[in-house]
Amino acid sequence: MQHRTSLTRIYLDYNASTPIAECVAEAMTAQWRGAFGNPSSVHHFGVESRYAVEKARRTLAKLIGASSPDEIIFTGGATESDNLAVRGVARAARRAGRGSHLITSAAEHTAVLDTCKDLRDREAFDLTILPVDEWGRVRPPELAAALRKDTILVSLMMANNENGAINPVAELSAITHGAPNALFHCDGVQALGRYTLSVQTQGIDLLSLTAHKIYGPKGIGLLYVREGIEMEPLVTGGGQERGRRGGTENVAGIVGFAEAAAWMERSRESENDRLLGLREDLWRRVEAAFPNSIRNSPPRDCLPGTLNFSLPGASSQRLVAELDERGFAVSAGSACTSSGRAGSHVILALSGGDEERASSSLRISLGHGTAAGDIASFVEALEECVALAP
Ligand code: PLP
Repeated sequence: MQHRTSLTRIYLDYNASTPIAECVAEAMTAQWRGAFGNPSSVHHFGVESRYAVEKARRTLAKLIGASSPDEIIFTGGATESDNLAVRGVARAARRAGRGSHLITSAAEHTAVLDTCKDLRDREAFDLTILPVDEWGRVRPPELAAALRKDTILVSLMMANNENGAINPVAELSAITHGAPNALFHCDGVQALGRYTLSVQTQGIDLLSLTAHKIYGPKGIGLLYVREGIEMEPLVTGGGQERGRRGGTENVAGIVGFAEAAAWMERSRESENDRLLGLREDLWRRVEAAFPNSIRNSPPRDCLPGTLNFSLPGASSQRLVAELDERGFAVSAGSACTSSGRAGSHVILALSGGDEERASSSLRISLGHGTAAGDIASFVEALEECVALAP
């Protein structure tokens, strides 16, 4: 096997995952090396671990504006949080006779979209999938028109992982609450640490988050569930998380999650301004180099470090591979579905089914490690790749 050591690699895929922040690695290492007890044990060792878990729970609850730390359930990541929210609420609401109608949008992450479809196909829930506008956002009047007396859950994301578009969440949740039985679930994964997130002021009943998009560890997430909401657990046994998610807690992961969230919050404003400048520089260069390029990320109300665009005539899959050869890590869409051959479902949804546009789209996502010079070298490499023939 050949090893290339001279290639400088530039990571431009921060929406897929992020490196661990130094302070997070330190906090987790201290936790691993220190308290090892089971947080459920009543002796000194258990109490030490329990203290670390509850301290982190308080930090995270405060950061998202929850009224109590008890509203936070730790999970194994946002895919699990989304599943717990959608399946857990849907099943409990139907059992209580409140209805069986779910609403989501065509641009959701597959953790929500496929879960809703699964409930429709295998458990006979009724599902409405809302279309999105040209930037991938839900139009509030379309949500209002879709709501019914038997609607039990509306699940809409805050910031789209593929193109960065931000939904008007406060408006969408207020519309949802106009229906007698409907709760509002929000996947806030990409918004955490990058955009204002407050469950109280934004009217969010359930919120899914994960640590590895904010310079924290993989395999740890949370679901905020407003006090009083009925939800069936997916994982039973052990009684942890007040019976809502069984299994011994990932103590170091939880500690790292809270540390990462606090760290992101501290640097949010200055980092957002910096990323916004880099993103617009990137778009100016892309537009100049490729006159046929189409911008898929909205110029406003968008995550500052995310730019998605299409290069009609090119193949996303090929470009991702060619760019990787040159040391640039980008993606064609969501990392979770990047092995699939079909074009991005988000770009299909926002373009009215334009397959050419969907199969030639690239997602560039910038983060703390992105330097100004990376932008120019990326566009140069992209020009080389596109010139290589289809
Ligand atoms: N939701 C969104 C919007 C995401 O971007 C991701 C990650 O790609 C997920 C959910 C899944 O998160 P996790 O990797 O923690 O399961």
